[in-house]
Amino acid sequence: MALRPGYRGRLAPSPTGYLHVGHACTFRLAASRAAEAGGELILRNDDLDRDRVRPVYVAAFLEDLRWLGLKWTEGPDLGGPHAPYSQSERLPLYRAALERLHAGGWVYPCRCSRRDILAAIAAPHAGDDEPLYPGTCRNAPLVPLPPAEPLGKGTSTEPRISWRFRVPDGETVTFRDGHFGDQRFVAGADFGDFVVWRPDGLPAYQLACVVDDAAMQITEVVRGADLLASTARQLLLYRALGLVPPAFHHAPLVTDATGQRLAKRHDALSLRALRERGLTPAEALKLTRP
Ligand code: GLU
Repeated sequence: MALRPGYRGRLAPSPTGYLHVGHACTFRLAASRAAEAGGELILRNDDLDRDRVRPVYVAAFLEDLRWLGLKWTEGPDLGGPHAPYSQSERLPLYRAALERLHAGGWVYPCRCSRRDILAAIAAPHAGDDEPLYPGTCRNAPLVPLPPAEPLGKGTSTEPRISWRFRVPDGETVTFRDGHFGDQRFVAGADFGDFVVWRPDGLPAYQLACVVDDAAMQITEVVRGADLLASTARQLLLYRALGLVPPAFHHAPLVTDATGQRLAKRHDALSLRALRERGLTPAEALKLTRP
């Protein structure tokens, strides 16, 4: 690959469990693409999932990534020009983005619970985590944003609402993926109006990811193929916020030797379990099947 000074890639683990060999494959790919481009690699701690995040998993991913031999130049352990590198410390940036989306009329308040949404649709949308939103609150009158709460603590006694991005129904979102080539997703069919701000006063993954990748001047996002449809959603957010999107390179998902997709609960294939069994990083990576 030609040397591309200015390349900035990132590793963005969520400290909700131990890293497994699937993460190792994706992160090694991200690191090698950054190294081949002569660029920088940034480590970001995606710790917004308040119910599932544990500090022990932050210490664990730092240790596991070092064991894999990966090197980054900015991160929660090193600091850097775009600090802080933990999402839980970046809430004012996400709130500012929500205010811009609100001022531009891109979002609307939604009172549906996850259960309401599941009940209102025939079936969860295949292959994607978020069910297609049936549009129940789409035409609700726009209300002002509630005041920003200190660090999303959720002190208010008001019934909680989420904020949803109104997708342009029927528009085809296209991008060229570095691995999978040309991609097309139809807004309103392949994915629906999606949550950008959660009822607990915290940004949803889609918004936090876009805000940070833009603020940290990431030029290429390398991540798992399960996020291809999220990339289409995120491209709509980049446009609404007037931000320039990075390039995208999705890694094929790896499975274990029985063909099952790896999840964090697959503890036997966690990097630390394998390390404790005496495997080297290279031997650990051989346990996967692309
Ligand atoms: N923290 C997110 C995850 O682990 C990052 C996804 C992404 O790379 O955008 O799924």
